[in-house]
Amino acid sequence: MKIGFIGLGNMGAPMAKNLAAAGHAVTGFDTAGVTVEGVAPAAAMEAAVAGQEVIVTMLPNGAIVRTVHEAVVAAAEPEALIIDCSTIDVESARAVHDLADAKGLMSLDAPVSGGTGGAAAGTLTFMVGGSEAAFAKGRPLFEIMGAKVVHCGEAGAGQAAKICNNMILGISMIGVCEAFHLADKLGLDRQAMFDVASTSSGSCWSLNTYCPAPGVGPESPADRGYKPGFAAELMLKDLDLSQTAAEKNGASTELGRHARDVYRAFVEAGGKGRDFSAILEKLSAE
Ligand code: NAD
Repeated sequence: MKIGFIGLGNMGAPMAKNLAAAGHAVTGFDTAGVTVEGVAPAAAMEAAVAGQEVIVTMLPNGAIVRTVHEAVVAAAEPEALIIDCSTIDVESARAVHDLADAKGLMSLDAPVSGGTGGAAAGTLTFMVGGSEAAFAKGRPLFEIMGAKVVHCGEAGAGQAAKICNNMILGISMIGVCEAFHLADKLGLDRQAMFDVASTSSGSCWSLNTYCPAPGVGPESPADRGYKPGFAAELMLKDLDLSQTAAEKNGASTELGRHARDVYRAFVEAGGKGRDFSAILEKLSAE
């Protein structure tokens, strides 16, 4: 397929590279002028959109996605499929679906889980919102960039799944960090705490796979001085999205709100650029 890829950052670059490596003709554009192995660079966004069968965007936030998609929709071929893989608010996701609909173009919201490691390895999980026809066209590309693809429902359903998942993640990471912190105060060995909780009812991804305690469990950002991984400010962004959605839709998410406040305080106190599991380091320093 002929694919235009807009936003070649930490996630977009390896995703575009994998599409090209699978034999697709990929043209890329990023305002930072990034170049990616196997991807033809476009000098302007329109050059990455015109003539393409599929356009993929992987951008920082909803405001940027809305602006970029206005230009994408204006330059896209009539048969093109537009896929946004960024993590954004459900309202913006639905708004860019409407932009595409108004021009008769197919579109999908398809945020991902799995981080930069998953993007590089082609093992991301895709959670997808949009019509059956659009999903059928996009699916082969998701299967190159990811290991798991779930069609969650109509427009915006992928973003809804993403913010719910990341609300669980933020809450569970704080819980695991607090448990290690309490274990320290009680004189309990961290390895013993891991060996018990990771095979007991406290087991969860934040503990078993992404353990925030260095030297304990499988290798994780904690073993690399909390270099992200998944940066604390991105977790704050996602918890802001889930909390805004909860407030707008009348959902009671007390722990989600509390987790958002914990990450906001952490980021404001210098945690920006550190992995989101560094909450344990902060607790240990208190
Ligand atoms: P990033 O900041 O590394 O990449 C974003 C890229 O978009 C940058 O290279 C930037 O120059 C480019 N860009 C910004 N405005 C642009 C424009 N108008 N036109 C073209 N390019 C533009 O961010 P990232 O880590 O790659 O994350 C991208 C998205 O994926 C975000 O929505 C993030 O929440 C989500 N996400 C990130 C991770 C992760 O672990 N990093 C995991 C899952 C989802």
